[in-house]
Amino acid sequence: MIYLDYAANTPVHEEVLRVFSDLTREFVANPNAAHSAGKAAREYLERCSENIARLLGLSDHDIVYTSGATESNNLAILGAALERRSRGRHVVSTFLEHSSVNGPLAKLESEGFDVEYVSPLPDGALDLDALSDALTPGTTLVSVCYVDSELGAVQDISAIAERVKAVPGCLLHVDATQAVGKIPLDLDKADLISLAPHKFYGLVGSGILAVRRGVALQPLLHGGLSTTPHRSGTPALALAAAAEKALVLALENLDEKRRIVSEHNARLRAHFSKDKRIVINSSGRSVPHILNISLPGLSSEQMKDRLGERGVLVSTRSACSAPNSVSRPVYAVTGNKKRALSTLRISLSHLTTPDEITRFLEIFDECLGAIAP
Ligand code: PLP
Repeated sequence: MIYLDYAANTPVHEEVLRVFSDLTREFVANPNAAHSAGKAAREYLERCSENIARLLGLSDHDIVYTSGATESNNLAILGAALERRSRGRHVVSTFLEHSSVNGPLAKLESEGFDVEYVSPLPDGALDLDALSDALTPGTTLVSVCYVDSELGAVQDISAIAERVKAVPGCLLHVDATQAVGKIPLDLDKADLISLAPHKFYGLVGSGILAVRRGVALQPLLHGGLSTTPHRSGTPALALAAAAEKALVLALENLDEKRRIVSEHNARLRAHFSKDKRIVINSSGRSVPHILNISLPGLSSEQMKDRLGERGVLVSTRSACSAPNSVSRPVYAVTGNKKRALSTLRISLSHLTTPDEITRFLEIFDECLGAIAP
């Protein structure tokens, strides 16, 4: 198998698994329990949270443990917008977002909110002037991804925060799910930050929402007090410790890991740019880990399936998208429906080897030849 779908999920690091199993054995008590073992578990959890906030470069945020980035995005968007509905019902986002952001935004629209989507520029950067134009005194929340899941375009969070803060009281939510472990993080100006360890060699079923202290959120889950604010239920200490470990490991040797991935990316780009049947959608501002291409006029679903039959695993879109649908991010940057309907996303890791890239390109050419001789 040649796995090139690391943006959908990464293999768990052995050390993360070890932390998870050690902590599960070591701590029996519920961190909410009012006895000494509960207190010990709670103190351990608090240390994990402090360390996670520090590793993310956050100076003033609480860490909320969720089931994944989908829940983090839902809690951030629904929680913040509904809590602040008496101040305004206007929310701004972008055409680059993952379905777990678009979903809660659609829910807000169904409840009478006005949601405005800002376009990216052709290189995938958010149009900051369009963002400023979209903001009104009644805008209570802006939700943007740091790195989008289809093109991999990196946003300038400080510049976006500066625009957002021009509206007094407006919160900034950043979906940083595809950014962690890929780029140096600049998140402290965001009020709400979503991420999920399974995107950086941690465990599936675990997510994080960082919430600036003092920001109130309407809860998604009701009933049961918890030591973690904003989310009821028994905090999963072993998952929190595993998330912390995954974060420590993801931030180690970032430059070296990026160098390896960039070399793979350059080889793919050089190969694809020689073929007239292929258009590259990811621009120079995309992380090297995500390379989005189109096969205009051809079926990328068919191409993905043929690659799959040969043991090569890539995606047409992000894993949570409806099949055979237009890629919103690719349509937003290209304005070209044929390109947006025929996308393939190849996502790379520092674990990818040069031999895998060589073999992938051979198989890719054979499969493409079969569908477009
Ligand atoms: N946000 C982005 C940018 C993503 O890429 C993904 C997953 O692909 C999610 C959110 C949802 O993450 P999860 O699968 O942890 O719910």
